[in-house]
Amino acid sequence: MDFNDTPEQAKFRAEVRAWLADNARLPQAGRLVRDMHLRFDEAKQWYQKKAAAGYACLDWPKKYGGAGLTPVHKVIWSEEVEKYTEPDDYFVIGIGNCGPAVMHFMPEQRRAELLPRMASAQDVWCQLFSEPGAGSDLAGLRTSARQSASGDWLINGQKIWTSGAQNSDYGVVLCRTDTSVSKYKGLTMFVIDMRQASVTVKPIKQMDRGQHFNEVFFNDAHIPDENRLGEINGGWEAALVVLMNERMAITASVPDGFAEFLKFVRRAELAGTPLREHPLVRDKLAQWYCLHAGVKASYYRLITAVAQGGVPGAEGAIGKLIAGRMNQEIADFSLQLMGEFADLHEPAAATDDGYFQDAILYTPGIRLAGGTDEIMRNIIAEQVLRLPQEPRVDKGMAFEDIPGG
Ligand SMILES: Cc1cc2nc3c(=O)[nH]c(=O)nc-3n(C[C@H](O)[C@H](O)[C@H](O)COP(=O)(O)OP(=O)(O)OC[C@H]3O[C@@H](n4cnc5c(N)ncnc54)[C@H](O)[C@@H]3O)c2cc1C
Repeated sequence: MDFNDTPEQAKFRAEVRAWLADNARLPQAGRLVRDMHLRFDEAKQWYQKKAAAGYACLDWPKKYGGAGLTPVHKVIWSEEVEKYTEPDDYFVIGIGNCGPAVMHFMPEQRRAELLPRMASAQDVWCQLFSEPGAGSDLAGLRTSARQSASGDWLINGQKIWTSGAQNSDYGVVLCRTDTSVSKYKGLTMFVIDMRQASVTVKPIKQMDRGQHFNEVFFNDAHIPDENRLGEINGGWEAALVVLMNERMAITASVPDGFAEFLKFVRRAELAGTPLREHPLVRDKLAQWYCLHAGVKASYYRLITAVAQGGVPGAEGAIGKLIAGRMNQEIADFSLQLMGEFADLHEPAAATDDGYFQDAILYTPGIRLAGGTDEIMRNIIAEQVLRLPQEPRVDKGMAFEDIPGG
């Protein structure tokens, strides 16, 4: 990737900069909105505003509510919008993960109906993959989909950790449709209407006081066959499209904490000496700068490949693995430097609006969401470095013959 803007990109950047200056809010000290519900309403307004101005889903075709531009324009937008406080990535699960699957696997008419509403956040989407017994081993899931004589489907079972399900209009759900074949072969993916009575959503409380994710129960939930994503029993292929896009979206949207650490180090003192002069702090700064620059370069390489017509590959695992762990380590180290001030969490009183106090509570979850660190390492080992696969004892077995609880 050429890191300099082309004349056309520079013009786009100037337009974006001017529009954001007129329309986006700058961060204000002590005004951090932690209430996810308030943030949800803000996010809806923000997405509708940027959609009306033509800045939603920049790399989607215009007919689906996008701007018909490239992933590079998306990077330019992200670089400019990060200076503001708008919840610009709030609906990343729908737009980043579910949208590409709808685009790839649904017929034109359904795409035209669903995607423009997703792009402007008129409809909110969630991703219903994980179950109590199937997270890392996603293909071991048990939620069943049974086709009725009319061709439509009835869904029964339970999902868990479903981010945003409590606010969602639609979800992408992965179900078991055949138990007589190997676990990867008997899965089918659908779009489900979350507003039906046979879908029950129960929020889960987190240690940071938020209610970000949920348990979801299906009791004969109904899905028309036109909402099937891809072939019957071809769901694993569709799920991989969602997962690869998810890792790319996480790499793009999850902060690694470096900018906040740099800001903190530039300003704060330890026992009368500026932090930036402390040898241990300087050592950490250099180490994290290298990781930050590496993740950025690896993301740009991924984006360049996608802009040239490729699909997001396993390399997306690298950014998620490094940035997730780094953000947690930065929060931990910064709180140690703050000493007893680390105990203050309210934005009005805490150092840097309580950014590091927040981060220490949510970063462990980032290391699990979208695949744990260990699973990212497996992906990098097997698909990037081409090392031998880890042993899979159920390989080739019919799902119904795999011992389970
Ligand atoms: C903040 C957050 C948001 C989430 N949002 C969603 C969502 O919107 N939709 C959704 O479907 N899911 C979501 N999830 C669930 C997430 O995808 C799972 O938590 C994740 O895949 C891990 O699965 P698990 O929790 O069942 O852990 P397990 O798979 O049971 O893993 C337990 C431990 O064993 C390790 N492990 C497992 N298998 C291996 C292996 N083969 N090699 C080495 N180590 C292994 C894991 O790394 C982990 O440390 C979310 C999770 C979080 C934390």
